[in-house]
Parts: sequence; structure tokens; C-alpha cells
Amino acid sequence: MKLLEGKKALIFGIANKRSIAWGIAQAFHEHGAELGFSYGIPQLERRVRPLAQQIGVGFVEKCDVSSDEETDAVFQKAADHFGQIDILVHSIGYALREDLEGRFVDTSREGFKTALDISAYSLVALARRAAPLMPDGGSIISMTYYGAEKVVPHYNVMGVAKAALEASTRYLAADLGPQGIRVNAISAGPIKTLAAAGVSGFRKMLRYSEERNPLRRNVDQREVGNTALWLCSDLGSGVTGEVVYVDAGYHILGMPEPPEKWD
Ligand code: NAD
Repeated sequence: MKLLEGKKALIFGIANKRSIAWGIAQAFHEHGAELGFSYGIPQLERRVRPLAQQIGVGFVEKCDVSSDEETDAVFQKAADHFGQIDILVHSIGYALREDLEGRFVDTSREGFKTALDISAYSLVALARRAAPLMPDGGSIISMTYYGAEKVVPHYNVMGVAKAALEASTRYLAADLGPQGIRVNAISAGPIKTLAAAGVSGFRKMLRYSEERNPLRRNVDQREVGNTALWLCSDLGSGVTGEVVYVDAGYHILGMPEPPEKWD
């Protein structure tokens, strides 16, 4: 049974084949959705187009979400191409490199603004433009991380941006719910991607999580894609305003298993 037969989805945030958004695109494609891709910077086109071709996606457009003009333009093109859409995927995050190392207290005003604008406000900007293209209702999802709730070394201003993204998810869900549009976030465990490589000490995060989470392994892009799939299909019809964890259970731990050397 195909869960997204006849559905149209616009996916923002594929950079390469390691992107979480690509894991989502593959799951959606296998379940019959018609897809459109948007990527952030011109240099990514040569990576994104071949992936789009691989699964027969004809709509591939650049959009820097910090620009209102580019955001307006991509939604105009989407309206012309698709007429209406059912699903919007926001898989975008960015912070200045220097703000993902050292201390949070040293975050510059510019760094704070940049992280919050691109990683959190952009969800609001995309949702506002997507809603009129969803007259039959729809589903909007974004990607978050546990660093929104608890302090994670070096995650710093991205944690604050993810907290804003999660709060925005709830406010958007309340605003758009009466139109039948659901808004949710997926909180993924650490996955090796381009964006993750910008977080200082990321390899240690991967190892730390793998050794301690209940499943004793890290999750991958396809597992996030599969959760996006049920959430955006009719199987998720009663769920909105939620943060759904795909983190091998890491977030349930109050205290990780102490090392054996303490016995
Ligand atoms: P990625 O680098 O593949 O994706 C990040 C995307 O953001 C890229 O496609 C990049 O081009 C895009 N982007 C950045 N600035 C942009 C801008 N101004 N306009 C448009 N697009 C822009 O990495 P990823 O790990 O797949 O990240 C996707 C999402 O998942 C992010 O929100 C990230 O914070 C979140 N996330 C990642 C992890 C992880 O461990 N990888 C864990 C939890 C949540």
C-alpha cells in the first residue's frame, strides 16, 4: 500500500545524498508522492539535480530562505507547477561556524540573528506561503534536535534556534489547524551530514549517543524519512503541534548507564 499516492510535497533542504531531506524524499517517492525540491545556494545545484533525476523530480529551484524575494519566487513557481500541494518539508539549519564551538555566552548579535532567522523564522515564512497552496489541508514538518531542550556541548545558539523552531511549530499548528493543516517537528538523533559537521566535536556526539541510548546505535536518514512518511500521510491525521523523536530513545534518559570502571 502506497501512503502518499496522489500527494504533492515540496522539500526544502537537500544538500547532498547524506541530507536528512534526501532520506525523506526517498521515502516519499517510494510511497507515490510527486515531489519538488528547493536548495539553498547555487553551488548545491550540481549535487541536487542528479538526485532529483534519480527519482524523476522535475521541479528543482534555488531559494535562500533569508530572502523574502527568493521565497516568494519559489512559491510562485510551485503554484504554477503544482497548482496545490499537500506537504511541506523544512529541513534547514544554519549558524556561523564560530558560534558552534566555544561558549554560548560569546555568541555575537549577528550570529544569534543569523541562526534564528535561517533555522527558525524560515519555517514561519515557508508555512505562511505554503498554506494558501493547501486548500484541502496538509502537513508541514521540520527537523529539530534535543539541544533545544537540554544543554549539549557546542550546540550553543543552534539549541536556542531549535527551541524557537519547536515553539513556532506549536503556534503554527494552532493557527493553521482550523484549515486542516498539521504542523509537527521531528527531533532526530545525531546523523553524519554536512550541517552536523559544522558542530565542533560532532564525532564524539555520535559515539556518546551510540554507546548510551536504549537501542545502542545511531539512527539514519531513512529512519527519519520513514517517520516523516507516516506523519505526513493519513496515518498521522490526528497529530499536530508535536515533536516526534527519532533518536533511538536518547531523550528518555535521565542518567546514562555509568561506565563499568565505576563498579
Ligand atoms: P544538511 O547540511 O544536509 O542540510 C541542511 C540544509 O540547510 C542544507 O541543504 C543547506 O543548504 C540548507 N540551508 C542552510 N542555509 C540555508 C538558507 N539560507 N536557505 C536555504 N537553505 C539553507 O544537514 P542535515 O543534518 O540533513 O540538516 C537538516 C535539518 O536537520 C537541519 O534543520 C538540522 O538542524 C536538522 N537536524 C540534524 C541532525 C543531525 O545530526 N544531522 C539532528 C537533528 C536535526
